[in-house]
Amino acid sequence: PAGPPAIDVRGLSKRYGRRTVVNDLDLRIPVGAVAGFIGPNGAGKTTTLRMLLGLVRPTTGQGTVLGHPLTDPAGYLPRTGALIENPALYPRLSARRNLEALTILAGRDPAWVDAVLDEVGLAERADDEARSYSLGMKQRLAIAAALLGDPDLLILDEPTNGLDPMGIRLMRDLIRGLAARDGRRRTVLVSSHLLAEVEQICDWIIVVDRGELAYQGPPERLLSAGAPRVTLRPEH
Ligand code: ATP
Repeated sequence: PAGPPAIDVRGLSKRYGRRTVVNDLDLRIPVGAVAGFIGPNGAGKTTTLRMLLGLVRPTTGQGTVLGHPLTDPAGYLPRTGALIENPALYPRLSARRNLEALTILAGRDPAWVDAVLDEVGLAERADDEARSYSLGMKQRLAIAAALLGDPDLLILDEPTNGLDPMGIRLMRDLIRGLAARDGRRRTVLVSSHLLAEVEQICDWIIVVDRGELAYQGPPERLLSAGAPRVTLRPEH
């Protein structure tokens, strides 16, 4: 569909002192895409996502997110949800209570909580204490929290990290289901240090290496584009 990209950012950089962590990134993510943000540990993925979320101030960078200036995150953050660090859950509260607490804090309608629990596949375990959840379930609960505002942009930082193969598969299915469909225009940006973990669900791929853009575009062209081999196999 025509119209501006969900994320259209140019020259995004972050320097800490003399150290350049993100260097002159141009990001262009179409509306409705599931975009994989791939790169080895330390490539600058988290820093980039934190800049997009207004948590870290870019050293340089301009452009728009959801049509609002990058420099004015307050314009687009109300329509953005994120899983970016260990979710702050109340371990002794149930999943449902955790989400109800967040909706009340955010001034939203608690009736929405059950729909979101269902969407992330936690409806059956909704009344169990969060501390009884597996890592994968905690991640899903955190994603549920990110969905409470029905965001147009969902940013997920390494949601498959630490999960076993079954958990990774469940997470992939979940992310695919959260994407745009039936007239919903949601864009998902999901980072991973392993291309293979997210490749199948992505219709857009961004590869970063040492803070620099190595590839951006549809997954089909990635191999022929000769992106760094380091991103195509496990990195430890
Ligand atoms: P990971 O998967 O390990 O999180 P990443 O691709 O997300 O990797 P970042 O977390 O963005 O990478 O970190 C990129 C580099 O920037 C790392 O070398 C990190 O040490 C450095 N870095 C991050 N934050 C700071 C900071 N506040 N001050 C100095 N250096 C930082």
